[in-house]
Amino acid sequence: MTLSLQSFAAGRWIAPSGKIAHLKSAVTGETIAQLGSGNLDFAAMAHHARTIGGPALRALTFHQRAHLLKAVAQYLNERRDALYELSYDTGATKSDSMIDIDGGIATMFVYASKGRRELPDDTIYIDGNLEQLSRGDNFVGQHVATSLQGVALHINAFNFPVWGMLEKLAPTLLAGVPAIVKPASSTAWLAEAAFRMIVESGILPDGAVQFIAGSTGDLIDRLTCQDVVSFTGSAATASMLRANPNLMKNSVRFVAEQDSLNASILGPDAAPGTPEFDAFIKEAHREMTAKAGQKCTAIRRIIVPDNRRAAVIDALSERLAKTTIGNPRDEATRMGALASLAQRDDVREKAGMLAKDARLVFGALDHVEVANADAKAGAFLSPLLFECADPDGAKTVHEVEAFGPVSTVMGYRDLAHALAIANRGAGSLVASVFTNDGVVARKVVETAGAFHGRLYFANRDTGKEATGHGSPLPHMVHGGPGRAGGGEEMGGIRGVMHYMQRTAIQANPDLMTAITKNWTAGSKTIEKDTHPFRMSFGNLDIGHTIWTDPRTVSLADIEHFAEFTGDTFYAHMDEEAAKANPFFPGRVAHGYLILSFAAGLFVEPAPGPVLANYGLDNLRFMKPVSPGDSLKVRLTAKQKARRNDEYGEVRWDVGVYNQDGDQVAAYELLTMNAM
Ligand code: NAP
Repeated sequence: MTLSLQSFAAGRWIAPSGKIAHLKSAVTGETIAQLGSGNLDFAAMAHHARTIGGPALRALTFHQRAHLLKAVAQYLNERRDALYELSYDTGATKSDSMIDIDGGIATMFVYASKGRRELPDDTIYIDGNLEQLSRGDNFVGQHVATSLQGVALHINAFNFPVWGMLEKLAPTLLAGVPAIVKPASSTAWLAEAAFRMIVESGILPDGAVQFIAGSTGDLIDRLTCQDVVSFTGSAATASMLRANPNLMKNSVRFVAEQDSLNASILGPDAAPGTPEFDAFIKEAHREMTAKAGQKCTAIRRIIVPDNRRAAVIDALSERLAKTTIGNPRDEATRMGALASLAQRDDVREKAGMLAKDARLVFGALDHVEVANADAKAGAFLSPLLFECADPDGAKTVHEVEAFGPVSTVMGYRDLAHALAIANRGAGSLVASVFTNDGVVARKVVETAGAFHGRLYFANRDTGKEATGHGSPLPHMVHGGPGRAGGGEEMGGIRGVMHYMQRTAIQANPDLMTAITKNWTAGSKTIEKDTHPFRMSFGNLDIGHTIWTDPRTVSLADIEHFAEFTGDTFYAHMDEEAAKANPFFPGRVAHGYLILSFAAGLFVEPAPGPVLANYGLDNLRFMKPVSPGDSLKVRLTAKQKARRNDEYGEVRWDVGVYNQDGDQVAAYELLTMNAM
């Protein structure tokens, strides 16, 4: 039965129409799905997103959006089996599908968790520290970010139909921006199934997500300055789309993840027999065969010391020869099919171009042994390993991406040469380096960092915990300069910012406090009869302040503290030695004594809403405290972040002052407070 892939537009499922594309199983060649978006009303889709989805998402705080992401991820997680089943026909083995399906769901979980831990329970994101813009502290600056008020158009590649969709959706929705997802046609049945689950879950607000099964019609011509295009695919399509006059006229954000000639370097120290050499061969093999090499991060250039070329080719060929290629449903299969016959033809053509500069040392372009499948009907291809004897003179090996199980071994004279070769990729997503030498690792970062979005180091100790050369992680930036598209995705909360506008706010401290809901130094404080520690999380006002009574620090206090804690550092105990120190007038109080006295001055001892001291941030001792000095503390509620229904975190601004009104210590105290 042929699946009829539907679009989801303005809250309705729409059947294929217009020019219908017939999608074929990568394994059997049979038609399994059809799609077409001929009669979609793209203007209505954009309008629906901007007027229904956007406002609904923006009404939620980051924490509320994070809860939605978690619920969606849980919903998908319980339904993975149905997705695996559909994934086989994309040519993917079970372990390939896990990278795509489980990887996508895990990315959503990570964003859900980061959203709650690293973003405020608010709609405005505070970016960086307060800037003092005037001498009198009466005019301050703060960068903030707010949600774009348009729609994100996600155009995805065929190789990861689920991960590609979810890794873009997670940061977009967390940013409060609705999305229209356009998957690559050739594997769209899997993307549609996962998307359908998201809609059927009923978790997201109306208009938060829409789906185009087919082409994007005139949508790109309708985008405005509040919209974003996030594209993954080939450099050729990216350059064509970037040049769209409407995108240029409106400065529409265009984030591109495109092809990349990623390198893996065998360190000068990693001779055959070392754990690094073995790990290198294993990784190169895995990158050639996982997803049949159809990974944007796959290793295309294997860069090794000249005198180890033969050893590397032998070891890698031995592994490749043992790789079972065949029906992805078979457990014994290690490499499935490419995504389509067209894709196989493309890889063969590109491999033919590589052959201008390199010699095929493993595999055959036109023959492959296939287990339990029809090698002619399915898009099967043998792994192809090339050797390039002259990487300096060669062009194609640094420029042509054969998006399949294809890689080229090339030799280097010394580390500088290896890095020069790696940088000839003219901007790559990732390079890995297998070395146990810290000097080599540092040199790689200095020399190749600017050409790469990610550098991955493996040595004998990284072992099983290492996440792999080819795996983009939600915590880390995915993207690269130049040829790789010049874009970035993910990278934790950085990825959320691609869908938000950063704005510089300049104002006086009172207005800044009102805008950011963070008490800003210099703004009004609120003093009440009730101690702020007696206020529940919900009733505590930002700016609620107490000034404590003074306490004099005596020499006996300092000596007692020194003996009691064992901290008999000379600056506290030896007048002559302390005086000789450029910072101290003589014996001074311990910093930790000042903190302890401060706590003794401001705490409200009886059981109450304050549940725990959670830590200190930004502690500075600004002036020495000598015996006889008198200390006074100001404690101000600065910021509140709800954690759950029972408690939340309160950040207190604390200032400790001496008898002259000079500040001797500043810090932020964190407490957990009951609701
Ligand atoms: P592609 O042909 O460039 O297609 C990418 C996406 O663009 C597909 O969804 C495609 O839709 C769409 N598209 C094509 N023409 C369009 C147009 N005129 N307007 C709007 N959308 C259009 O690339 P692909 O062959 O699918 O993907 C393979 C490439 O992607 C490889 O080069 C690989 O390196 C790269 N890739 C990069 C990353 C990364 O993160 N950097 C990840 C995966 C893949 P249709 O399918 O409907 O044509």
